[in-house]
Amino acid sequence: MTCEFVGMRGAMRLLVIEDEEGLGRAVCEHLRSAGHASDLASDLETAETALATTSYDLLLLDLGLPDGDGIDFLRRLRRGGFAPPVLITTARDRITQRIEGLKAGADDYLVKPFDLDELLARIDANLNRAHMMVTTIREFGDISIDTSTKAVFLAGEATDLTRREWGLIERLSSRPSRIFSKSELEDSFYGHGFEIESNSIEAIVSRVRAKLGKTAIVTVRGLGYRMGKA
Ligand code: CA
Repeated sequence: MTCEFVGMRGAMRLLVIEDEEGLGRAVCEHLRSAGHASDLASDLETAETALATTSYDLLLLDLGLPDGDGIDFLRRLRRGGFAPPVLITTARDRITQRIEGLKAGADDYLVKPFDLDELLARIDANLNRAHMMVTTIREFGDISIDTSTKAVFLAGEATDLTRREWGLIERLSSRPSRIFSKSELEDSFYGHGFEIESNSIEAIVSRVRAKLGKTAIVTVRGLGYRMGKA
């Protein structure tokens, strides 16, 4: 159901997934007063329909919903490449639940009952962060590289890289169509504050391939390496 729509240009559009009707309406009303447009979905099926037809800047997600669990829903969304910020709003207040939510791909976690002004402040902070991140994400097929947080995602899943692996992928992805010689790549590691053996570039390349896919880095015989697509 559409809660409110603010027809102003540039307004952010939010999807509120919440089955407590009174709370959902109060949240939408508060968002509207702050200039954000929002739709209210009281179950996951409605949310899915809304997401299929509308582009949202941010999601508010309750976890206990009549037709499923918000955590599973969020995992599915992230696996499918859904990028906008997601704020979990829930009564589940244990630290393990909070960690589970963040691991599933939430950007923030707010425990009920929450203050509407705090909710709004968190929404604005997340929207600002998402806006700043737009220019710092490098995409190569299934691989997303976020240079602001030094995070690498394969098909939406966060992948842990060592400092050396990060240094390599950061350098290659900075100029995607360019071929980097081994010695150039070695030199770039000095810039990252550590030395490496001349033959260890190959080892780092193969470790990155093991984590991000064989085609993540292309070998150009006799010349060096360039960024590929997973
Ligand atoms: Ca609920």
